[in-house]
Amino acid sequence: MGIEEKLPSGILLTTVEKLVNWTRKSSFWPATFGLACCAIEMMATGAARYDLARFGMEVFRASPRQADLMIVAGRVSQKMAPVLRQIYDQMPEPKWVLSMGVCASSGGMFNNYAIVQGVDHIVPVDMYLPGCPPRPEMLIDAILRLHDKIMHEPLGDRRRKALAEKEAPIVAPGAMPS
Ligand code: SF4
Repeated sequence: MGIEEKLPSGILLTTVEKLVNWTRKSSFWPATFGLACCAIEMMATGAARYDLARFGMEVFRASPRQADLMIVAGRVSQKMAPVLRQIYDQMPEPKWVLSMGVCASSGGMFNNYAIVQGVDHIVPVDMYLPGCPPRPEMLIDAILRLHDKIMHEPLGDRRRKALAEKEAPIVAPGAMPS
């Protein structure tokens, strides 16, 4: 007989890892980081019609020190790159990055010297969302996929990743370091 069968009903078995990941994914605090047209869809996602609050993340924070999710919504200019990196560095661990839209993910139609050709040159990206612009439903889908990813993250991984980043900061080719 397994241990589950010996326990009275109403007792829930889980691991510390699953419990911690569940609490993490259930209360994201996104940083306000709209950079271009994609940000309009991000704002709509947070408003009453799409009701992002259903997923425990209605409060967008103006301070990076109170945020654990950066939604990069729009193209990243070379001038903005060091600012973006600085804001990312100011966010406490554990933290995640969602690249919203084709411009943030790869430069999109802006294949020129002024735009960073993918925000992953500046910060590590956990989830890429295609589209121009992605609709609010798509952003919600990407957030739910990120929830799923977090649920399967080994606990030590975030710490290891943070230490590796400290040793080798990611800087875009041509971007001014802060
Ligand atoms: Fe604007 Fe489209 Fe680029 Fe988003 S992906 S920033 S909507 S041009």
